[in-house]
Amino acid sequence: MTCPVDWLVVGAGFAGSVLAERIASQRGESVLVIDRRDHIGGNAHDCRDANGILYHKYGPHIFHTNSRQVFEYLSAFTSWRFYEHRVLANIEGQLLPFPINLDTVNSLYGLSLEEAQLADWFKAEAESIAQIITAEDSVVSQVGRRLFDTFFRNYTRKQWGLDARQLDRSVTARIPVRTNRENRYFLDEFQFMPHDGYTALFQRMLEHSKIRITTGVDYSAVRHIKPRCGTIYTGPIDEYFGHCYGRLPYRSLRFEHVTLDTPQHQPAATVNYPNDFDYTRVTEYKHMTGQRHERTVITREYPSQSGDPYYPVPTEENQAIYSRYDALARNEPNVWFVGRLANYRYYNMDQVVGQALATFRRLNQS
Ligand code: FAD
Ligand code: UDP
Repeated sequence: MTCPVDWLVVGAGFAGSVLAERIASQRGESVLVIDRRDHIGGNAHDCRDANGILYHKYGPHIFHTNSRQVFEYLSAFTSWRFYEHRVLANIEGQLLPFPINLDTVNSLYGLSLEEAQLADWFKAEAESIAQIITAEDSVVSQVGRRLFDTFFRNYTRKQWGLDARQLDRSVTARIPVRTNRENRYFLDEFQFMPHDGYTALFQRMLEHSKIRITTGVDYSAVRHIKPRCGTIYTGPIDEYFGHCYGRLPYRSLRFEHVTLDTPQHQPAATVNYPNDFDYTRVTEYKHMTGQRHERTVITREYPSQSGDPYYPVPTEENQAIYSRYDALARNEPNVWFVGRLANYRYYNMDQVVGQALATFRRLNQS
């Protein structure tokens, strides 16, 4: 049966929405966007509590990029609020800057090192590791085992349900080590929050006469329909192929959103709890959004084995399974696999937008 649309887009997150927008606005072709959730925006979706306070349904999403192309593309759908993210780690009740910097080391160990001394101090702490393979190697080779044990060992175990030795180095390589007092989480050239939130950005992106959106619909229910031109699939790749090579593991989270009767709960947007509690971090959104209110919303993130797939788990074994699915995907006619779940890759939002724009260029040439 032929569907009366040119394109079917599975998933209304960044990957699917960017492609739907590009196809509709640049090729003038019709697009049906479906999502099994009851809303658009994928994991970047945000909404308001009963008091009108904006929060992120799937945990804190901070936009940062070095890609001018990605920033300019998204700027067509939102204005921005300048925001630079800062994180504190709660170590036995002491709130310390994270990523580790000069102030972290001095406060934790009661030292008064100068900037020029810290690189040597790290060198003395670091272990020499011939080949940096795991998430543990990546940290221990830079700052040593004491700091690894304090900030990384338990957080990583909690977050992934695996030891840092079982995970690829890329997991902790996301976190820089600083010898100065820089305390921003990201150093990217463009760091902003969408002025009216992410959902408003997605609404503008998808507002086009050629785009139809249906939420609450799973791909399995419409799979038999063949769109005229092609399908953009942004769901889990193993699910698309009926798990024929086995299930790819995804780490899930349970989000506990709480409205508190106080104007401010904590001194930074995010406080990490590496060694205490079952949750990894607590985020207070008003720091990011600049909203003023006598109440505040926080989110606690509890990692979990079951639930929605959020994080592909980067291990060698999983990568090998993914490669087999990827080989099938490459031979699937007229289907483009885009985004974090379809590529089984730990991408940030800007990387997904960049990948979707690159996919559109390729698709235009095919
Ligand atoms: P998604 O946003 O997951 O969208 C895929 C959509 O497809 C989903 O809505 C899903 O419901 C739908 N779908 C899947 N399968 C089907 C199906 N069979 N039928 C119908 N619909 C289907 N990135 C940053 O840049 N900065 C951050 O601060 C940041 N923080 C994060 C915090 C957390 C807790 C998490 C989990 C991620 C974070 N990210 C962050 C990453 C960011 O969420 C992703 O890069 C981005 O949202 C991925 O977009 P996507 O379109 O690939 O996938
Ligand atoms: N991490 C850690 N301690 C922390 C923060 C991060 O051990 O206080 C490790 C952990 O393995 C985590 C990874 O570094 O999964 C990447 O952290 P990031 O903050 O980038 O995680 P995300 O925001 O993607 O969940």
